Amino acid sequence: MLPFSAEPVYTRSVRILTSEILEKKGEKVELAGWIDSRRDHGKIIFFDLRDREGLVQLVAAPDAGEAHKVAETLRPEWVVSVKGEVKDRPKGTENSNLVTGQLEIAVSEITVLAKSEALPFPIDGDGYEIDEETRMKYRYIDLRRKRLTKNIRNRYKVIRFMREFLGERGFAEVETPILSKSTPEGARDYLVPSRLYPGKFYALPQSPQQYKQLLMIAGLERYFQITRCFRDEDTRGDRQPEFTQLDIEMSFVGEDDVMGLVEEMYLSLVKKLYPNKKLKLDGSGRIPRMSYDEAIKNYGSDKPDVRENKDDPDELAFLFVVDFPMFEWKETEKRWDAVHHPFTQPRVNGVEDFKNKFQSDPSSIKAKQYDFVLNGYEIGGGSIRTHDPELLSAVFEAMGNRPEDVQAKFGHLLQAFRYGVPPHGGVAPGVDRLVMLLEREPNIREVIAFPKTGDGRDPMMQAPSEVDKSQLDELHLIINKEKER
Ligand code: ASP
Repeated sequence: MLPFSAEPVYTRSVRILTSEILEKKGEKVELAGWIDSRRDHGKIIFFDLRDREGLVQLVAAPDAGEAHKVAETLRPEWVVSVKGEVKDRPKGTENSNLVTGQLEIAVSEITVLAKSEALPFPIDGDGYEIDEETRMKYRYIDLRRKRLTKNIRNRYKVIRFMREFLGERGFAEVETPILSKSTPEGARDYLVPSRLYPGKFYALPQSPQQYKQLLMIAGLERYFQITRCFRDEDTRGDRQPEFTQLDIEMSFVGEDDVMGLVEEMYLSLVKKLYPNKKLKLDGSGRIPRMSYDEAIKNYGSDKPDVRENKDDPDELAFLFVVDFPMFEWKETEKRWDAVHHPFTQPRVNGVEDFKNKFQSDPSSIKAKQYDFVLNGYEIGGGSIRTHDPELLSAVFEAMGNRPEDVQAKFGHLLQAFRYGVPPHGGVAPGVDRLVMLLEREPNIREVIAFPKTGDGRDPMMQAPSEVDKSQLDELHLIINKEKER
């Protein structure tokens, strides 16, 4: 038998944050972080220590012995822990730009936890002028700059607000599969080859659309998810191959219920997290609504920028655009396509009425669709869904699907609709664009921790990348070299 061993010794860090020194004047404290900058004034060495809360000035006087010797070797971005006493700065040397600017730490002990090479670019400014490829290659360094740290933290605050807001109103967050089947949102799918089923592929979801509707059939009634959507679209400046949506679906609701929920959530979010923003609302303090026809006629756009003063960076003009047409003509494919997606309910009185209207003038059919717009950007869209399986099949067929294609592509959904489907609808506002606009950033890459370049690459991980022949073999894949660009 093994001898009874002693209890393991766990030590708890006594480290405090720079912001916490405000209450610790005269006390000995331990801090840890990165050397932000260093200044030698004769024999006295000053340096700023940076942690997640901010900066504090450390002073190593010559009489600090070993600590002074270590201080002499320190370089920017080294990681250290220090012990020292919190003191008032000498009169006249206070720095009103720093939260901790009245105080400094007289260090008595410094431990170097990690050294750092010189950084590939400075991180003390906003960094907009630095080549983006380089910023992305060293994204973990780029993220140290204050602007990006703030963006990422505020993004989390926005998401946390959404989760709490919806949780308090009876919604449950449900994770839906990433390995799935193609669902039509109008873009190309990312495909994942199946090893176990040669020649078969999963598709990454362009959105959880069908799953969230199936959750309504499951009786969940109120679903949301902070979810990633994948769309393989051609390079367009501000698009990302994967982006984040606040996906919502509700049962027993009409358009007003969904828009009302979004309105209440976004207005209270802005008031709580961005109280200095100026909201442009209608006379009764609501988010204005505009019909699609009016938007096109008066603004030449289905996402009009209705700000009063476009030079005011803090003005937020939310808008709902409603009454979209159900279909648009796709010249390339010579067929009518859904403006939003085929699950959207057309404004018709049943299947016969739909068929008649479609036959006489497809463009005249309106949809129960609403888009959510902010300062000229589409930040979300949604609709009340068709829950009559016969009408849904008719819409699929109107879009050029033969009955057998409808069965192959959507048979599972049509079958589910035979088992008691509540009327339902939803919406999916994008998280990236919202945070971009709230943070007044020029593009969504500035508010995503690890974005791809405009042309879909990750210069840090070097994705996409080639894979071993053995991996291809396992997946039953052969690369057609001739077709490579
Ligand atoms: N799935 C839709 C989209 O991603 C949103 C919705 O209809 O709820 O645009």
